[in-house]
Parts: sequence; C-alpha cells; structure tokens
Amino acid sequence: MKVKQITKSKPSTKGMENLKAKNNLPKWEYSKTIEDSKHINLKDEYDLFVNGKLVKTKTYFETVNPATEEVLAKAAYASKEDIDNAVLSAEKAFNVWRKVTPKEKGKYIFRIARILQEKAREFAVIETMDGGKPIRESKSIDIPLSIAHFFYYAGWADKLSFAFPDKNVKPIGVVGQIIPWNFPLMMAAWKIAPALACGNTIVIKSAETTPLTLYKLAEVIQEAELPDGVVNIVSGDGATGSHIVNHPKVRKIAFTGSTEVGKIIMKATAGTDKKLTLELGGKAANIIFEDAPIDAAIEGIINGIYFNQGHVCCAGSRLLVQESIRDIVINKLKYRMKNLRVGDPLDKNTDVGAINSKMQLNKIKELVKSGIDEGANIYQCDCKLPKKGFWFKPTFFSNVAQSHRIANEEVFGPVLSILTFRTPEEAVVKANNTFYGLSAGVWTSKGSKVFNILSKIKAGVIWANTFNKFNPASPFGGYKESGFGREGGKHGLEAYVD
Ligand code: NAP
Ligand code: MG
Repeated sequence: MKVKQITKSKPSTKGMENLKAKNNLPKWEYSKTIEDSKHINLKDEYDLFVNGKLVKTKTYFETVNPATEEVLAKAAYASKEDIDNAVLSAEKAFNVWRKVTPKEKGKYIFRIARILQEKAREFAVIETMDGGKPIRESKSIDIPLSIAHFFYYAGWADKLSFAFPDKNVKPIGVVGQIIPWNFPLMMAAWKIAPALACGNTIVIKSAETTPLTLYKLAEVIQEAELPDGVVNIVSGDGATGSHIVNHPKVRKIAFTGSTEVGKIIMKATAGTDKKLTLELGGKAANIIFEDAPIDAAIEGIINGIYFNQGHVCCAGSRLLVQESIRDIVINKLKYRMKNLRVGDPLDKNTDVGAINSKMQLNKIKELVKSGIDEGANIYQCDCKLPKKGFWFKPTFFSNVAQSHRIANEEVFGPVLSILTFRTPEEAVVKANNTFYGLSAGVWTSKGSKVFNILSKIKAGVIWANTFNKFNPASPFGGYKESGFGREGGKHGLEAYVD
C-alpha cells in the first residue's frame, strides 16, 4: 500500500513571534466587545427632583465621561433656596409617609427594586459612562447589589418590631444623605432603602462627577408612585452638601465620603440634636501568611486594589506579606498584572477603567510621586493607556516603610503599597498602625489563625481568604477615622429610628 506523504506547510514564524510575549507566553488579544449603548437616551439637562416633580434651577454644571472627556449632560446645581424647598417637601411628605402602613411601605420599596431590575442594563451603562468603571463591574456588582439592598430592606419594613424587640421605635423625620462618586447608585441604595423602611423622608445629594444614575433613580421612584416628596434628589457640590447638613429641619445626616469632609460635618452637627453616621476613608491591610493559598491570594490582592480602579473605601491598599514568601508573591503579582486589561470601560473585557476625574488623577499622581521620592520601588503594568480621558496604570510599590505617605494616606486609586512582616504579632501591629479602621483581609490555610488575627484587628469588616465581598444582610462601617454607624443588615436600621 502506498502511503501518501502529507507535507505540513511550515508555520510562519512571524505570526508565532507575534503570539509570544517576552516571557514566552502566548499573548492573547481579545477582540473588543463593546456594551451596546444605543438604548441609552440621556437628556441634555437633569433637573432637581423635588416633591415628586422635576424642578428647574438657575445654574447647571456639566458631567463628563472620564474615559473620553466627552460632556454627557448637564445637572442642576442646587442652591440654598433649592435645598430649603427640598427639605420643606420632605417635611410635608413625612406626615404622609409615616402614616403609610409598614406593609405598604415594604411594597413601595419592593416596587423600586423590581423596576430597577427591569432597567438594570440601562443603569449599568450609565454608571459606567458617568463614572468610568468597567461595565463588567457595574453590571455584575454595582447594580445587582443596589437592587439587592432595596429588596432586603423592603423585607424589614413590616418587621421593625422584630428588629427592635421591646422597643417602640419611631421614624426620625427628614434625613439628609450625601454620597460619593465611587459607587453612586449603590451608595444611594444603601442610604435610601433603610431610611424608607423605617418611615423617614429623604433629601439626597449625589457627588459632582456622577449625578446621572441618581436622576435615573428619580424616574424609577416616579414610576413606583412613591408619594410626592418622600425622596428628593439634588445635585451640586460641597456647598450644596453643606446646606443639607446645616438645615435646621434635617434631623439626621448620613454621609459617605472623605474623612476630611466627615470632620467638617461632625463639627457642623456638634451641639445640635441631629443624628449622624459617617462612612469615611480607609487604608486596609491585606495580610498574606506563608501558609496561604498563594494563587487565590494573588486574585485577592488584584481584586482588593484594582477593583473599581482602587476607588474603593475598603480597598486592600496595604499589602502585608510574610517575609518568607515576599519574592514569590511579588513575582506572581507581576505575572498576574500582565493580564490586566486597562481601557474602554464599556468593553466587556476591561478589568480596569478610567480614573473618575482629573482632580482624582492629580491626587493619585501626587501621592505616587511622594512614594518615589521617599524611596519605595515602583512597578507599573506595561499597558497602553488611551490618549483621551483620565487614566492611571495599575501600580504597586515594594520596599515601603511604615513612615511613607503611601503607607498611611488613602490614595483612592490603583496603587498598592507592599510591606512585610515576620510574625503574626508583627502583622497585627502593622495592620492596626493606621488612623483608619474600615476593613482588612487575612489569607491563611489555618482557620484558628484567621480567628486569632481577626479578633485583634480594629476594622469594621474583615474578610478571610477573600476580599471585597458585600451582602445587604451584612453590616458595613468603620472604626477610628473611618467613621461610625453601620449600613446594611439589621444594624443599618438603627441609624434611621428614634
Ligand atoms: P468627599 O470629597 O468627601 O465628597 C463626598 C460627598 O460630600 C460629595 O457628595 C461631596 O460633594 C460632598 N461634600 C463635599 N464637601 C462637603 C461639605 N463641606 N459638606 C457637605 N458635603 C460635602 O469624598 P469623595 O472624594 O466624593 O469620595 C471619596 C471618599 O469617600 C474616600 O475617602 C472614600 O474612602 C470615601 N468612601 C467611604 C465609604 C464608606 O462606606 N466608608 C464608601 C465610599 C467612599 P461634591 O462631590 O459635589 O463635591
Ligand atoms: Mg461624570
């Protein structure tokens, strides 16, 4: 039998070379998968939402897409007079809302959750366009968690007697809520849902760079037919926030933002009978022991610091790694960082999106420069950044000393500081060596070590062998300069009752 010889054509080495990265790994190039935004119809101008209606004001400011610098829309700049009107509307609505039966209140909140669920894709795209976060995150984290919060507190509305047995709890009245730009809709949900469940009425202000999803929420609230004035939504800047804080008819302030502004608010409310909860900054220690599942820990480091470009109050921004595994962790981290995709936030393959604003980018650059000047070693992803927009390469510093600014100050960007320790005792001392106390992470294969370490760390939330996990049933909040009061869970109701 004749065997026909099959001659294989020699593969072109040119193509192969292109496929290989410097370290001989295949370099996969994903094709772009841009989220469809055709269904997004943004208005030119977003008016205030007061007393159930859209209300015009004198001044409007622009909100941009930080990934393109393109102006998306204009949003109302609420003046003192506008805040007075919003508070008056909430005050009138309080007499209506407090009389709505708990069960009916629950139904309204449930309805908000259901409508949000129907519009989840639209909300995710707008959140990504207005704030720069990857669509992967807004679609699978921000929006679902916001919805979950409304569902969760809808359930509590008629069960307050179970949450507070033997107590006759009452709503507080008009509450003022001020939120930051890193998780706009989620921070709004964390605040609005429990306040409504407890029978309060609301004036809430979005952050200057991300007003859009809150105004979209106003449309949802209208559709849910919530009585007029129960939720009033405004936008503006710090001055707008301070009008809310200082309004005599506002009985409670719930603030999430920087420690700096938190201190101003604390001073402003001192000596008044206003209730106050502050959710402020953080500088979380992510502690990796030598007996940790290293590859899982590497994912935890990545998720801890590069999730949402590091614009996360509970980000694992201080990596404490046991000295014996320092080099292996750093090498694996570098290897993993090669695969991070930085770029168009609307691309479903993007891991790290745009920095929220030019101001925040400058703040990050300034702190990174201080790290270099103070002698730490910098490593950055060798990724290409888009020409337009605000971007910063995922970065880490090794050789960081406790005294360096990057070890103490919140960068609020994709910048990790790596420090080492030798013993568990040293890890605890270093973890607690911070003004903040919001969160921490512990990685070890020993359960006993987890419980031992977490009992000694002063932080509101501590994750073991995972990081940045949230659930509406789980309370969240800080110690020390990270603030006080808890959001989420049964604890989250306490802030909204007398
Ligand atoms: P920020 O500058 O403190 O602003 C937060 C909010 O307060 C914004 O709506 C801001 O308005 C407003 N504001 C500014 N000055 C004010 C004043 N004097 N009186 C009343 N309101 C005022 O913080 P950010 O830069 O938006 O957010 C980042 C910070 O939030 C980080 O420190 C982060 O750690 C923290 N954060 C904490 C948590 C938590 O749960 N602990 C969660 C998320 C973020 P404008 O934006 O319009 O100026
Ligand atoms: Mg914006």
